[in-house]
Amino acid sequence: MKAAVYHGKEDIRVENVADPKPGEGELLLQIEACAVCGTDLRTYRNGDKKIEPPRILGHEFCGTVIESRNSASNVKVGDRVVMYIVLSCGQCKYCRGGRENLCINRTTMSYHHDGAFAPLVRIPAKAILRNSMFKVETHQTSQQMSLAEPLGCVTNAHDHLHIGLKDRVVVIGSGPIGAMHAVLARLQGAQSVYMIDVNQKRLDMMKRFDINGTILSTKAGSHLEEGLEVTDGEGFDVAIVAVSSAFAQADALELAGKGARVEFFGGLPKSNPIAALNTNHLHYKELIVSGSYSEKLSDFKAAYHLIQSGRFPADKFITHELPTDRIHEAFTMMENGDALKVCINPQLN
Ligand SMILES: [Zn+2]
Ligand SMILES: [Zn+2]
Repeated sequence: MKAAVYHGKEDIRVENVADPKPGEGELLLQIEACAVCGTDLRTYRNGDKKIEPPRILGHEFCGTVIESRNSASNVKVGDRVVMYIVLSCGQCKYCRGGRENLCINRTTMSYHHDGAFAPLVRIPAKAILRNSMFKVETHQTSQQMSLAEPLGCVTNAHDHLHIGLKDRVVVIGSGPIGAMHAVLARLQGAQSVYMIDVNQKRLDMMKRFDINGTILSTKAGSHLEEGLEVTDGEGFDVAIVAVSSAFAQADALELAGKGARVEFFGGLPKSNPIAALNTNHLHYKELIVSGSYSEKLSDFKAAYHLIQSGRFPADKFITHELPTDRIHEAFTMMENGDALKVCINPQLN
Protein backbone atom coordinates (compact mmCIF):
# COMPACT_ATOMS: atom_id res chain seq x y z
CA MET A 1 0.00 0.00 0.00
CA LYS A 2 1.01 3.62 -0.48
CA ALA A 3 1.65 5.53 2.76
CA ALA A 4 3.16 8.82 3.94
CA VAL A 5 6.14 7.70 6.01
CA TYR A 6 8.15 9.89 8.37
CA HIS A 7 11.89 9.29 8.05
CA GLY A 8 13.09 12.36 9.92
CA LYS A 9 13.10 16.14 9.81
CA GLU A 10 11.95 17.50 6.40
CA ASP A 11 11.77 13.90 5.20
CA ILE A 12 8.29 12.49 4.72
CA ARG A 13 8.12 10.12 1.79
CA VAL A 14 5.06 8.73 0.09
CA GLU A 15 6.18 5.18 -0.61
CA ASN A 16 5.02 1.60 -0.94
CA VAL A 17 5.00 -0.38 2.30
CA ALA A 18 3.70 -3.84 3.18
CA ASP A 19 -0.03 -4.07 4.00
CA PRO A 20 -0.53 -4.38 7.77
CA LYS A 21 -1.81 -7.73 9.08
CA PRO A 22 -3.92 -7.66 12.24
CA GLY A 23 -2.68 -9.95 15.04
CA GLU A 24 -4.70 -11.68 17.76
CA GLY A 25 -7.14 -9.19 19.37
CA GLU A 26 -6.54 -6.55 16.70
CA LEU A 27 -8.61 -4.86 13.99
CA LEU A 28 -7.85 -3.69 10.48
CA LEU A 29 -9.37 -0.41 9.29
CA GLN A 30 -9.75 0.89 5.78
CA ILE A 31 -9.15 4.64 6.06
CA GLU A 32 -11.53 7.02 4.29
CA ALA A 33 -10.29 10.27 5.80
CA CYS A 34 -7.30 11.41 7.80
CA ALA A 35 -7.06 15.13 8.53
CA VAL A 36 -3.66 16.79 8.55
CA CYS A 37 -2.84 18.23 11.97
CA GLY A 38 -0.60 21.16 12.86
CA THR A 39 1.42 18.55 14.76
CA ASP A 40 2.09 16.64 11.52
CA LEU A 41 3.36 19.85 9.97
CA ARG A 42 5.56 20.54 13.00
CA THR A 43 6.91 16.98 12.91
CA TYR A 44 7.74 17.44 9.24
CA ARG A 45 9.47 20.79 9.70
CA ASN A 46 11.27 20.21 13.01
CA GLY A 47 11.36 16.44 13.48
CA ASP A 48 10.10 14.78 16.66
CA LYS A 49 12.33 12.78 19.00
CA LYS A 50 9.33 10.81 20.30
CA ILE A 51 8.83 9.24 16.87
CA GLU A 52 11.17 6.48 15.83
CA PRO A 53 11.36 6.39 12.02
CA PRO A 54 10.20 4.92 9.77
CA ARG A 55 6.66 5.68 10.99
CA ILE A 56 3.41 6.27 9.07
CA LEU A 57 1.93 9.54 10.37
CA GLY A 58 -1.72 10.61 10.59
CA HIS A 59 -3.82 10.48 13.74
CA GLU A 60 -7.11 12.27 12.94
CA PHE A 61 -8.89 9.49 11.10
CA CYS A 62 -12.13 7.75 10.31
CA GLY A 63 -12.41 4.41 8.57
CA THR A 64 -14.30 1.15 8.24
CA VAL A 65 -13.47 -2.10 10.03
CA ILE A 66 -12.63 -4.63 7.30
CA GLU A 67 -11.12 -7.37 9.47
CA SER A 68 -11.56 -8.24 13.14
CA ARG A 69 -9.55 -10.67 15.20
CA ASN A 70 -11.30 -9.64 18.38
CA SER A 71 -14.66 -11.27 19.11
CA ALA A 72 -15.14 -9.08 22.21
CA SER A 73 -14.81 -5.84 20.28
CA ASN A 74 -17.68 -3.33 20.45
CA VAL A 75 -17.09 -2.51 16.77
CA LYS A 76 -17.58 -5.10 14.04
CA VAL A 77 -16.61 -5.67 10.43
CA GLY A 78 -18.51 -3.14 8.31
CA ASP A 79 -18.75 -0.48 11.04
CA ARG A 80 -17.45 2.97 10.27
CA VAL A 81 -15.40 4.05 13.31
CA VAL A 82 -13.29 6.73 14.95
CA MET A 83 -10.65 6.10 17.59
CA TYR A 84 -9.40 7.71 20.79
CA ILE A 85 -5.73 7.51 19.84
CA VAL A 86 -4.14 7.48 23.30
CA LEU A 87 -3.35 3.93 24.41
CA SER A 88 -3.28 4.29 28.17
CA CYS A 89 -2.39 1.72 30.84
CA GLY A 90 -5.54 2.02 32.95
CA GLN A 91 -3.47 1.41 36.07
CA CYS A 92 -1.48 4.53 36.91
CA LYS A 93 -2.64 7.34 39.17
CA TYR A 94 -3.70 9.50 36.20
CA CYS A 95 -5.62 6.75 34.40
CA ARG A 96 -7.47 5.90 37.61
CA GLY A 97 -8.36 9.60 37.92
CA GLY A 98 -9.79 9.69 34.39
CA ARG A 99 -6.84 11.63 32.97
CA GLU A 100 -5.58 9.13 30.41
CA ASN A 101 -3.81 11.93 28.51
CA LEU A 102 -1.33 12.15 31.40
CA CYS A 103 -0.81 8.36 31.67
CA ILE A 104 2.81 7.58 32.52
CA ASN A 105 2.76 4.51 30.26
CA ARG A 106 0.86 5.95 27.32
CA THR A 107 1.59 5.23 23.70
CA THR A 108 -0.09 7.04 20.83
CA MET A 109 -1.16 6.24 17.29
CA SER A 110 1.23 7.75 14.70
CA TYR A 111 3.94 8.06 17.39
CA HIS A 112 4.42 4.50 18.60
CA HIS A 113 2.05 2.72 16.20
CA ASP A 114 1.59 3.42 12.51
CA GLY A 115 -1.00 6.07 11.70
CA ALA A 116 -3.54 6.67 8.98
CA PHE A 117 -1.93 8.47 6.07
CA ALA A 118 -2.36 5.06 4.47
CA PRO A 119 -5.28 3.04 3.08
CA LEU A 120 -5.04 0.48 5.91
CA VAL A 121 -4.34 0.77 9.64
CA ARG A 122 -3.82 -1.93 12.24
CA ILE A 123 -5.58 -1.14 15.54
CA PRO A 124 -3.76 -2.46 18.64
CA ALA A 125 -5.70 -4.80 20.94
CA LYS A 126 -5.28 -2.35 23.80
CA ALA A 127 -7.56 0.17 22.05
CA ILE A 128 -10.46 -2.30 22.23
CA LEU A 129 -9.62 -3.27 25.79
CA ARG A 130 -9.65 0.38 26.87
CA ASN A 131 -12.95 1.23 25.05
CA SER A 132 -11.27 3.54 22.56
CA MET A 133 -13.25 2.61 19.42
CA PHE A 134 -16.48 4.42 18.53
CA LYS A 135 -18.93 3.46 15.82
CA VAL A 136 -20.23 6.32 13.68
CA GLU A 137 -24.00 6.14 14.11
CA THR A 138 -25.13 9.07 11.98
CA HIS A 139 -24.79 10.33 8.41
CA GLN A 140 -21.78 12.56 9.19
CA THR A 141 -19.06 12.02 6.60
CA SER A 142 -15.75 10.37 7.46
CA GLN A 143 -14.03 13.71 6.84
CA GLN A 144 -16.29 15.40 9.37
CA MET A 145 -15.82 12.60 11.91
CA SER A 146 -12.04 12.80 11.56
CA LEU A 147 -12.27 16.10 13.46
CA ALA A 148 -13.30 14.29 16.66
CA GLU A 149 -9.61 13.92 17.57
CA PRO A 150 -8.57 17.60 17.43
CA LEU A 151 -11.94 18.71 18.81
CA GLY A 152 -11.34 16.40 21.79
CA CYS A 153 -8.05 18.19 22.52
CA VAL A 154 -9.88 21.53 22.45
CA THR A 155 -12.59 20.10 24.70
CA ASN A 156 -9.92 19.09 27.22
CA ALA A 157 -8.75 22.72 27.42
CA HIS A 158 -12.32 23.97 27.90
CA ASP A 159 -12.62 21.81 31.02
CA HIS A 160 -10.50 24.47 32.72
CA LEU A 161 -12.32 27.47 31.29
CA HIS A 162 -15.97 27.00 32.30
CA ILE A 163 -17.22 29.40 29.62
CA GLY A 164 -20.75 30.72 30.05
CA LEU A 165 -23.19 33.49 29.24
CA LYS A 166 -21.19 36.25 30.93
CA ASP A 167 -17.92 35.60 29.15
CA ARG A 168 -16.26 37.71 26.50
CA VAL A 169 -13.74 35.41 24.86
CA VAL A 170 -10.69 36.11 22.72
CA VAL A 171 -8.83 33.42 20.77
CA ILE A 172 -5.33 34.24 19.54
CA GLY A 173 -4.52 32.18 16.46
CA SER A 174 -7.06 31.51 13.71
CA GLY A 175 -5.99 28.12 12.43
CA PRO A 176 -8.37 25.17 12.73
CA ILE A 177 -7.63 24.75 16.45
CA GLY A 178 -8.32 28.43 17.13
CA ALA A 179 -11.56 28.16 15.17
CA MET A 180 -12.58 25.09 17.22
CA HIS A 181 -11.97 27.06 20.42
CA ALA A 182 -14.12 29.89 19.10
CA VAL A 183 -16.95 27.58 18.04
CA LEU A 184 -16.91 25.72 21.39
CA ALA A 185 -16.93 29.03 23.28
CA ARG A 186 -19.99 30.10 21.30
CA LEU A 187 -21.74 26.74 21.79
CA GLN A 188 -21.21 27.12 25.53
CA GLY A 189 -22.97 30.46 25.45
CA ALA A 190 -20.15 33.03 25.36
CA GLN A 191 -21.40 36.63 25.24
CA SER A 192 -18.85 37.54 22.58
CA VAL A 193 -16.06 35.78 20.71
CA TYR A 194 -13.20 37.59 18.95
CA MET A 195 -10.26 36.13 17.08
CA ILE A 196 -6.79 37.62 16.65
CA ASP A 197 -4.13 36.65 14.12
CA VAL A 198 -1.14 38.13 12.32
CA ASN A 199 -2.46 36.84 8.98
CA GLN A 200 -5.44 38.68 7.44
CA LYS A 201 -6.12 35.80 5.01
CA ARG A 202 -6.62 33.44 7.95
CA LEU A 203 -8.85 35.95 9.73
CA ASP A 204 -11.00 36.32 6.61
CA MET A 205 -11.59 32.54 6.68
CA MET A 206 -13.02 32.88 10.20
CA LYS A 207 -16.00 34.85 8.86
CA ARG A 208 -17.72 31.55 8.06
CA PHE A 209 -18.04 30.91 11.81
CA ASP A 210 -20.45 32.45 14.29
CA ILE A 211 -18.07 34.97 15.90
CA ASN A 212 -18.39 38.68 16.71
CA GLY A 213 -15.29 39.86 14.92
CA THR A 214 -11.62 39.52 14.03
CA ILE A 215 -8.67 41.70 15.00
CA LEU A 216 -5.40 41.87 13.08
CA SER A 217 -2.35 41.61 15.33
CA THR A 218 0.26 44.30 14.61
CA LYS A 219 3.80 44.92 15.84
CA ALA A 220 2.70 48.32 17.13
CA GLY A 221 0.19 46.57 19.41
CA SER A 222 -3.01 48.09 17.98
CA HIS A 223 -4.73 44.72 18.59
CA LEU A 224 -4.35 45.23 22.34
CA GLU A 225 -6.17 48.57 22.12
CA GLU A 226 -8.86 47.07 19.91
CA GLY A 227 -9.31 44.27 22.43
CA LEU A 228 -9.97 46.83 25.15
CA GLU A 229 -12.40 48.73 22.91
CA VAL A 230 -14.61 45.72 22.28
CA THR A 231 -14.76 44.90 26.01
CA ASP A 232 -15.67 48.38 27.28
CA GLY A 233 -12.11 48.89 28.48
CA GLU A 234 -12.29 45.88 30.80
CA GLY A 235 -10.37 43.22 28.89
CA PHE A 236 -11.59 39.72 28.09
CA ASP A 237 -12.95 37.24 30.61
CA VAL A 238 -11.29 34.34 28.79
CA ALA A 239 -8.15 34.52 26.63
CA ILE A 240 -7.08 31.42 24.70
CA VAL A 241 -3.73 31.09 22.94
CA ALA A 242 -4.08 28.70 20.00
CA VAL A 243 -0.77 29.35 18.35
CA SER A 244 2.77 28.28 19.21
CA SER A 245 4.14 31.75 19.99
CA ALA A 246 5.65 33.31 23.12
CA PHE A 247 4.46 36.72 21.90
CA ALA A 248 0.90 35.45 21.72
CA GLN A 249 1.20 34.13 25.28
CA ALA A 250 2.41 37.57 26.43
CA ASP A 251 -0.46 39.22 24.54
CA ALA A 252 -3.00 36.95 26.23
CA LEU A 253 -1.94 38.25 29.64
CA GLU A 254 -2.35 41.83 28.32
CA LEU A 255 -5.78 41.14 26.78
CA ALA A 256 -7.08 39.37 29.89
CA GLY A 257 -9.30 41.43 32.18
CA LYS A 258 -9.39 41.23 35.96
CA GLY A 259 -10.20 37.75 37.22
CA ALA A 260 -9.87 36.28 33.74
CA ARG A 261 -8.99 32.72 32.79
CA VAL A 262 -6.10 32.30 30.38
CA GLU A 263 -5.38 29.11 28.47
CA PHE A 264 -2.05 28.34 26.82
CA PHE A 265 -3.19 25.66 24.40
CA GLY A 266 -0.38 23.59 22.98
CA GLY A 267 3.26 24.32 23.56
CA LEU A 268 6.14 26.41 22.27
CA PRO A 269 8.85 24.92 20.05
CA LYS A 270 10.97 22.52 22.15
CA SER A 271 14.12 24.30 20.97
CA ASN A 272 12.90 27.57 22.50
CA PRO A 273 10.19 27.08 25.14
CA ILE A 274 10.96 30.13 27.31
CA ALA A 275 8.55 33.08 27.12
CA ALA A 276 9.05 36.60 28.46
CA LEU A 277 5.80 37.22 30.34
CA ASN A 278 4.68 40.10 32.53
CA THR A 279 3.69 37.97 35.51
CA ASN A 280 2.48 41.06 37.38
CA HIS A 281 -0.70 40.60 35.34
CA LEU A 282 -1.26 37.32 37.22
CA HIS A 283 -0.80 39.20 40.49
CA TYR A 284 -2.77 42.42 39.98
CA LYS A 285 -5.52 40.93 37.81
CA GLU A 286 -5.74 37.64 39.72
CA LEU A 287 -5.52 35.61 36.54
CA ILE A 288 -5.89 31.86 36.39
CA VAL A 289 -3.60 30.35 33.76
CA SER A 290 -4.05 26.80 32.51
CA GLY A 291 -2.37 24.53 30.03
CA SER A 292 -3.59 21.43 28.29
CA TYR A 293 -2.07 18.45 26.56
CA SER A 294 -3.77 15.93 24.33
CA GLU A 295 -7.19 14.75 25.51
CA LYS A 296 -8.90 12.47 27.98
CA LEU A 297 -11.16 9.62 26.82
CA SER A 298 -14.13 11.67 28.09
CA ASP A 299 -13.09 14.62 25.87
CA PHE A 300 -12.92 12.46 22.77
CA LYS A 301 -16.31 10.97 23.58
CA ALA A 302 -17.83 14.43 24.00
CA ALA A 303 -16.31 15.61 20.70
CA TYR A 304 -17.55 12.49 18.89
CA HIS A 305 -21.09 13.07 20.17
CA LEU A 306 -20.98 16.77 19.36
CA ILE A 307 -19.97 16.18 15.74
CA GLN A 308 -22.58 13.43 15.36
CA SER A 309 -25.24 15.79 16.72
CA GLY A 310 -24.70 18.09 13.75
CA ARG A 311 -24.39 21.11 16.07
CA PHE A 312 -20.68 21.42 15.35
CA PRO A 313 -20.03 22.94 11.89
CA ALA A 314 -17.46 20.30 10.87
CA ASP A 315 -18.09 20.87 7.16
CA LYS A 316 -16.91 24.48 7.44
CA PHE A 317 -13.49 23.33 8.63
CA ILE A 318 -12.58 21.04 5.76
CA THR A 319 -11.43 23.11 2.83
CA HIS A 320 -9.49 20.49 0.85
CA GLU A 321 -9.35 16.76 0.18
CA LEU A 322 -6.16 15.32 -1.29
CA PRO A 323 -4.68 11.89 -2.06
CA THR A 324 -1.75 10.76 0.12
CA ASP A 325 0.89 11.58 -2.46
CA ARG A 326 -0.03 15.26 -2.32
CA ILE A 327 0.61 15.57 1.42
CA HIS A 328 3.43 18.08 0.93
CA GLU A 329 0.96 20.38 -0.82
CA ALA A 330 -1.22 20.14 2.27
CA PHE A 331 1.67 21.33 4.44
CA THR A 332 2.33 24.32 2.17
CA MET A 333 -1.35 25.30 2.05
CA MET A 334 -1.57 25.14 5.83
CA GLU A 335 1.55 27.28 6.25
CA ASN A 336 0.34 29.91 3.80
CA GLY A 337 -3.11 30.10 5.34
CA ASP A 338 -4.73 28.91 2.07
CA ALA A 339 -6.35 25.92 3.76
CA LEU A 340 -8.13 25.55 7.04
CA LYS A 341 -8.25 21.78 7.40
CA VAL A 342 -6.95 19.42 4.74
CA CYS A 343 -8.18 15.83 4.70
CA ILE A 344 -6.08 13.14 3.14
CA ASN A 345 -8.15 10.44 1.44
CA PRO A 346 -5.79 7.46 1.01
CA GLN A 347 -8.38 5.72 -1.21
CA LEU A 348 -7.79 8.34 -3.91
CA ASN A 349 -4.30 6.99 -4.60
ZN1 LIG B 1 -3.94 16.35 15.79
ZN1 LIG C 1 -1.88 5.08 32.92
